[in-house]
Amino acid sequence: MLCTLGNGHFATRGAAPESSADEIHYPGTYVTGCYNRLQNEIAGEIIENESLVNIPNWLPVTFRFEGGDWFDVEDVNLLEYRQELNIRQGVLSRLVRFTDDKGRLTRVTQRRFVSMANSHLAGLSTTIVAENWSGNLILRSALDGRVTNSGVERYRQLDKQHLEIIEARAIDNEIICLQAETNQSHIRIAETARTRLICYGECLPAESRVIEEPGYIAREFSLKLEEGKAVTIEKIVALYTSVDRAISESGLEAVKQVRRARDFDELLERHILSWDDIWKRCRITIANSERVALVLHLHIFHLLQTVSPHTIDRDAGVPPRGLHGEAYRGHILWDELFIFPFLNLRIPDITRGLLMYRYRRLGEARWAAKQAGYEGAMYPWQSGSDGREESQRLHLNPRSGRWIPDNSQLQRHINIAIAFNIWHYYEVTGDINFLSYYGAEMLIEIARFWASIARYDRSLDRYEIRKVMGPDEFHDAYPDADEPGIDNNAYTNIMVSWLMEHAFKLIGMAGRTYSENVLGKLSITDENLSEWERIKNGLALYISEEGIIEQFKGYFDLKELDWEDYRKRYDDIHRLDRILKAEGKSPDDYKLSKQADLLMAFFNLGEKEVTHIIGGLGYTVPEDYFKKNFHYYIARTSHGSTLSRLVHGRLAYRFGMHEEGWKLFMEALKSDLVDIQGGTTGEGIHCGVMAGTVWEVISTFAGVDLQGDQPALKPDLPEHWKALLYNFSFRNTDYHVSISEKEVKLSGIGHGGEKIKVNICGDDLELEPGQEKSIHMK
Ligand code: BGC
Repeated sequence: MLCTLGNGHFATRGAAPESSADEIHYPGTYVTGCYNRLQNEIAGEIIENESLVNIPNWLPVTFRFEGGDWFDVEDVNLLEYRQELNIRQGVLSRLVRFTDDKGRLTRVTQRRFVSMANSHLAGLSTTIVAENWSGNLILRSALDGRVTNSGVERYRQLDKQHLEIIEARAIDNEIICLQAETNQSHIRIAETARTRLICYGECLPAESRVIEEPGYIAREFSLKLEEGKAVTIEKIVALYTSVDRAISESGLEAVKQVRRARDFDELLERHILSWDDIWKRCRITIANSERVALVLHLHIFHLLQTVSPHTIDRDAGVPPRGLHGEAYRGHILWDELFIFPFLNLRIPDITRGLLMYRYRRLGEARWAAKQAGYEGAMYPWQSGSDGREESQRLHLNPRSGRWIPDNSQLQRHINIAIAFNIWHYYEVTGDINFLSYYGAEMLIEIARFWASIARYDRSLDRYEIRKVMGPDEFHDAYPDADEPGIDNNAYTNIMVSWLMEHAFKLIGMAGRTYSENVLGKLSITDENLSEWERIKNGLALYISEEGIIEQFKGYFDLKELDWEDYRKRYDDIHRLDRILKAEGKSPDDYKLSKQADLLMAFFNLGEKEVTHIIGGLGYTVPEDYFKKNFHYYIARTSHGSTLSRLVHGRLAYRFGMHEEGWKLFMEALKSDLVDIQGGTTGEGIHCGVMAGTVWEVISTFAGVDLQGDQPALKPDLPEHWKALLYNFSFRNTDYHVSISEKEVKLSGIGHGGEKIKVNICGDDLELEPGQEKSIHMK
C-alpha cells in the first residue's frame, strides 16, 4: 500500500501487475471524487453507503512460456525479488529473477509511474530477459473491469459491485479500450492502453491477438526469445471520466490521448521533472537525522499523490485515507484540519481548491441544518459526492461480528474545523478574494448554525450545546441513555467561542465592504449578532477545583477503567471501544478516550488563546492547568486514532516535556511505516498524521508561527538535530530558512520589491528581497 502511485487525480495501489484481488494482493485504482451509492439490507434495515469506486485495473501485464501457466511468484523458484519505491521520482520498480520447473532462468524488471506531468496518463514497462534459454513466450497486456470494492474486510458483507461494463474492445493493433459506468452515479470511466513490444536482438516475429472476456480486454503477443536477449513490453494508459473538463466524451478522449502519448521514457522524464519541481518546494533537510527526513518525505510524497495541483480544478476533497484504499469509503472528514496547515505552507492553492469542495456543498449543509431544526449550515461528519451525511448508520464490530449503531455523525465539531481552516488559509495567504466571495459566507453560516444549536439555560445562566460528540469517538451517549449524544463537549464549546470571536473579526475587518454584503445577503441582524456575543461569552464548561476541564458534562461521574488489567489481557488496546463492546460492556460508562478531545483546543489554538477564551467565558483556571489537563487525559487515552499521538506529542513538546513529546512524535511518524495499528495501513494511508508530522517539524521544531501579519520563528530543535533547512510561503513571499544549533539564517523573495518582514525569537526584522540575514539564537 505504501507503494501506491498517484497524482492527485487518480492513484493505483502497488499491487503486482500480474495479480488479482485475493487474501494478499489488492489491486485498486481510485479517481478523486468518483463516488457511487449502493443499498444493502442489514438487520432488517435498508442502508445506503456511498463509496469511492475501485475502477478497472489498468496494471495487468503478464507472461507465460508456451504450454505453461501464467507467471505467478508463488509457483517459481525465486532467486531475487526486490521492489523499490523511488519517492524523489515517483517510480515503483521491481526485479524478479527466477527459475521455473524446467530450469529456465528468467529476469523480469518493471518500472511504473502515474504521471505527475499529465494527470490522465500512467505507464508500466516490463523487460524480460531469457538468461539461459531460448523459446516461445506469450505476453499479455490487459484492462480488467472485473473489480469490486472489497479492500476492507469489515465492509465485505455489503454489496461491492459498483461498475457496469459498457464496452471492451481493441481499437487498433496497439490500443485496447475498456469503458465502465458506475451503476448509480453514472460516471463513465474510460481506460485505454497502448502496448508496444521493443525487442533487443533476436526476438521477432511477434504475433498478436485480442482476448475478450466479459469485463476484460487484452492483447496477447507470441514471440520467440533467444538466450541472453530481452524484450520490453511498454504499456501506456490513459484514463478519463465523464466528469473531466475540456473533453467531448471520455472514451474518445482516452483513445485520442493514448494515441498521442509519447513513449515510456519521454513520459517518465516529464513526470520526474514535475516531481523535481514539487521537491524543490517541499524538501526538508535535517542534519543528523536523515531517516526522520526520509519518513517525512515519504509522508509528503503520499499526500501530494492524494492531492496535488491536479486536484485544484476537480470537485474533490481530501480523503483521510488517501486515494490509497477504501477505509471510510473515501469520504471527507475533519482530517483536513491536520492536512491543510502543511498545504498552506507550500502549495496553498490546493487548500483553496479543497475549500471550494466545501463551498459547493454549502446548500446541502444549509438543508441539513434546516432538517435538523437549526439555522445556518451544518456540514456532515462524512461527506462524499453531494455533501449529504455519509456516515454509516450501522457498523460492524469485527471483534464481536455484530452490527451496531454508529452515531459518529453527531461530531458536529467538523463545522468548527471547516471554519478554522477557512480562517487559517486566509491568514497564511491573505487571499481576500477567496474570503470575500466564498470563505466569509461559509464561516458566517457555520457561526449561525452554532448560534442556533446553542441553547440558553436560565437556571445555569449559560449557553449549552447538547447532544453532540467530541473528537473522542468512544463516547457517543450517556450510560443507559435512550438517545445518543453528550452535552457541552469542552472542545466544541471552547472552539465555538473562538469561532464567534473570529466571525466578529471578519465582520469588523476595516474598510471591507464584503462583510457587510455577506451579512446583508444572509440576513444577519443586529439581534443575531448580540446573541452571538452572548454565546461567545456564555458557553458552559465544567472545571474541577484542581483545574481539570471536564471533557463533557458528566465525564467526571464515569467509572475509572482498570487500564493495567486491559493491557495485561489484550496485546493491543487501541480500539478499547471494540474490546469493551465485545465483552458486553460500553465505553460510554468509563473515563477513557480514543484520542485527544479537550486537548484538541490547545492543539489548534495554543495555551494562551485557550486561556483567553476560558477567561472570556468567565472561568478561572490555575496557572499550571494545561499540564494538569494534559496528564489527566493522556493517562485515559488509548490512542485509537493515529491522530492521537500526533496531538499529544505536539503538546508535550511545546510545553517543555521534550522527551515525552519526542517519543510520541516518533510513534506518530511510524504510524503507516510500520502499520502501528496492526492492519489499517492496508486500507489506506493516514493523511492526517502524515501531514501533521511534517507540519510538526515546521511549526514546533522550527517554531514557525503564521498566525499574525508576518511570520514568526522561534526554533526549538530536538537536541540531536544539528540543522534544519526548509522553505515556506506566507502571503506570496517565499522564505528560505536554515536553522542550526546557534543561529537562524533566513531570506525571502516576494512578488515585487517589497521588504521582507519576519519576527525571529521575538525581534522584528526587515530584509531586502533575496538578502540573507543570520541571527544568533538567544
Ligand atoms: C478518528 C477520526 C478521524 C478518522 C479518519 C478515526 O479513527 O477517530 O477523528 O477523522 O479516523 O481519519
